[in-house]
Amino acid sequence: MYARAILFFVLLLSGLPLVAKGDLPFIKIGVLSHRGDAKTLEKWTPTAHYLIGKLPQYDFEIIPLDFDQVNDAVKHKKIDFVLVNSGIYVNLEAKYHISRLATMINARHQTPYKVFGGVIFTRYDRDDIQTLKDTCGKSFMAVNENSLGGFQMAWGELNKQQINPYQDFSRLEFGGIHDNVVRAVLEGKVDVGTVRTDILERMNNAGLIDKEKLKIINPQQNSDFSYLHSTPLYPEWPFSKLKHTDPDLARQVAVALLQISKDDPALAIGEYAGWAIPLDYNEVQRLFKALTLPPYASLEKLTLTEALKRHWYWVVGSLLALLVLIALTSAVVQHNRRLKRSQHRLERQHQLINQSVGDGIYGVDLEGNCTFVNKAMEDMTGWSATDLIGNNQHTILHHTHEDGSQHRREDCPVYQSSIDQKARFIADDVFWKKDGTYISVEYSCTPLRGVSGKVRGSVVVFRDITERKQIQKNNQEHQLQLAHVGRLSMLGEMASGIAHELNQPLTAITTNSRACVRLLETNKNNTEQCADIMEKIAAQAERAGGVIQYIRHFTHKELPHKKPAKIKDMLDTVLDLLHHEIKTKKIILTLKLDPKVPWVLAQDIQIEQVILNLIRNAIDSLDSVPKEKRKLVIRTREMPRNKVEIKVTDTGRGLKKVIKDQLFEPFMTTKDHGMGLGLSISQGIIEAHGDQIKVETPLGHSGVSFYFCLMQSSPSNTLK
Ligand code: ADP
Repeated sequence: MYARAILFFVLLLSGLPLVAKGDLPFIKIGVLSHRGDAKTLEKWTPTAHYLIGKLPQYDFEIIPLDFDQVNDAVKHKKIDFVLVNSGIYVNLEAKYHISRLATMINARHQTPYKVFGGVIFTRYDRDDIQTLKDTCGKSFMAVNENSLGGFQMAWGELNKQQINPYQDFSRLEFGGIHDNVVRAVLEGKVDVGTVRTDILERMNNAGLIDKEKLKIINPQQNSDFSYLHSTPLYPEWPFSKLKHTDPDLARQVAVALLQISKDDPALAIGEYAGWAIPLDYNEVQRLFKALTLPPYASLEKLTLTEALKRHWYWVVGSLLALLVLIALTSAVVQHNRRLKRSQHRLERQHQLINQSVGDGIYGVDLEGNCTFVNKAMEDMTGWSATDLIGNNQHTILHHTHEDGSQHRREDCPVYQSSIDQKARFIADDVFWKKDGTYISVEYSCTPLRGVSGKVRGSVVVFRDITERKQIQKNNQEHQLQLAHVGRLSMLGEMASGIAHELNQPLTAITTNSRACVRLLETNKNNTEQCADIMEKIAAQAERAGGVIQYIRHFTHKELPHKKPAKIKDMLDTVLDLLHHEIKTKKIILTLKLDPKVPWVLAQDIQIEQVILNLIRNAIDSLDSVPKEKRKLVIRTREMPRNKVEIKVTDTGRGLKKVIKDQLFEPFMTTKDHGMGLGLSISQGIIEAHGDQIKVETPLGHSGVSFYFCLMQSSPSNTLK
C-alpha cells in the first residue's frame, strides 16, 4: 500500500515540469490498478509507447491508480487521460465531466469482447451454497467497493433477490485485487467471492488456480460471450479524456487508439484486442440507479442500519445537536411559561390596582380617544367603559368650562401632553358627567411611551374635589360671616359711642335747663345769666343735633337736595382725587360721555361719593391683574324716560361668588382693610335718587360693571 502511494507520488512529481526527455510535453494516462501497480505498468506501458510512436510530439506515461486515488487524480487534474472501469467512469463523468474516447475490446483470450460481467463463485465442495439466496448469512469477499466487475455487478444481482450485501452476509470483505478474492475463496477464508469475468479463466490458464475447484453461482448463458459469468454484461472500460485535456490532443489520441493494429505488441501485453467507438454506458447508469450508488445515491433507499453504518458520525452529531436543541427548547419553554405566569400575575395586580384605586384613571391615544378606564372613573363620571373606550375624551368629559364657556380641544391639557410630551398637573377643572352635571377635579396627565420610547398617548389620573371645594367655600363664607359679626359688634360699640356722645350734651342741656329754672325761680330778673345758660343749652343741643345729623347722614334716609349737576364736573372732581393712583398703577382710563346728556339732577356731593366708591373698588380689583390688562371705562348714555345711565366698568378679577348676593349689605367685604360700607352707602344714595345700582359681568373679558341711572337735567332746572 505504502509502496504504491510512494510510486504514485514519485510518478506525479516526476511529471510536474510537464515536459519529459527532449522537452516533449508530458501526457499522463491514469489507469485503474486493480491487479497491482507493477502489473498495470507492465500491461499498459506498451500502449503508451504505441501512442508515443503515433504522436511523437508527446511523451505518454502510464500512472497506475488504485480505487482510492482515481477520484483525487481526476479532481486535481493530475492526469490527462484516464482508463477506469465503466462504473467509475459513470461517476467521473457526472462529477468531473470526463468524456469517453474509445471502449476497450477485451481479448485476454482468443475472442475479443467489448463487454464484461461479474462472476460469483464458491468452492466446488460447498453443497450448502447453490443459489444466490444461499449466500445469505455467509461471508462474502469482493474486490473493492468501487469495482464494477469485482463487486457492483454482483451486488446488482443480489439486489434483485432482495439481498443486501451490507446486511445479509455474516461478513463482507474487500480483497483489493481480483486474485486475492479467488484465493480467499479457494482457501476457505470466505464462503463466497465475486470478480470480473475472465479472471478465473486467466488464472486457470496461468496455472494459478484450478477453476474446477470453484462453483459458479447464478450462472448465465450467452452464446456471444464465452467467459463464466453470473451477471448481465456491461460495456468494457472506456478510455477517457479529462475536461482540461486539449481537445485536439484528445482527438489525435482517439484516432491513434482506434487505428491500433491487431498485430501491435501493445495489444498482446495489454491483454486486449484493440479499441472500438465508445459504447453506450446507460446500462451501467441503470445499475447504479438500482443500487443508489453515486452519482445516483439517495438516502431514501438506504436502510437504517446502512445509513447508520455509513454516516454514524453525522447521526451521532445530529443526535447530540438534537439533544442540545431539546434541552434548550425545554428551557425556553419553561422560561416562557414562567414569564407568562408572571405577566398574568402582573396584569391581574395591575387590574386590581386599577380597579381598587380611589382615583379615576384613563388612557388616551394620540387622537384623544380613550384606550382604557378604571372602575373609579366609571363611578365618578357615570360614563361606562363602553361609552368611553374608542371615543374622544375631550368631547365627552371636557367640552365646556365650569362657567358654561366652550373648552377648545387645542387648549385641552390632556391633548397638549400628548403633543408636547410634557406631564401636566391641573389643580382646578371640571369633568362633565353622563347626567349633564359636572364634578370639580384636579388631575395629572402624563405622556405614555411605548417600548420603543415613542409617545403613544397619555394617562390621566384625576380626583373628585367637589366636596373639598364646597368645604373651602363654606369656610370662606364662615369667615366672612365672622367678619360680619365682628363689624356688627363694632357697630354696637359705635352705637354706644354715639350714645355716649349724645349723653353728654343731653346731660349738659338737662343740667343747664334746671339751673336756668332755678335762677328764674329765685329771681325773675336773672335774664342775663339765664341767657348765658340758654346759649350753652343751645350749643349742646346743636352738638347733639350734629351727632344726630351724622347718624342720619350715615343712614341716608334724608332726601337729597337735588339740583342740576354737570356729569363731567362731578367726574373731574372724583378723578382729580384718584388721578395719581390711576397713573401709578398704569390703568388705562377711557371716558365715553354721551354729549347729548351732559346734565343730571342730583345732589352732586353724594353722586361724587357714589362714583368715587365705584372707581375705588374698580382700582382695587385691577390690582390683581397684570398691568397690561388694567382697563377702566366710564361711560354715560341717554336712556328712555329722560334718564342718563352712568356705568363704571373694569377688567379686574371680577366678583367673588361668595359675595355676589350680598354685595350691597353693609359690612360685607373681601378686602383685608375694607369696611364693606362703600356699596351699601352708595346704594342708599342712589335709592334716594330714585334708582338702584346694578351689576353685570361684561362679555368677552373678566371684570365687572356697576351702573345706575339719574334723571336728565338742563342747567336751568331748579330743585324739585
Ligand atoms: P369695601 O370696598 O370696603 O370692601 P364695598 O361695599 O365697597 O366695601 O365693596 C364690597 C365688596 O364688593 C368688596 O369687598 C369687593 O369684594 C366687592 N366689589 C365691589 N366692587 C368691585 C369691583 N369693581 N370688582 C370686584 N369686586 C368688587
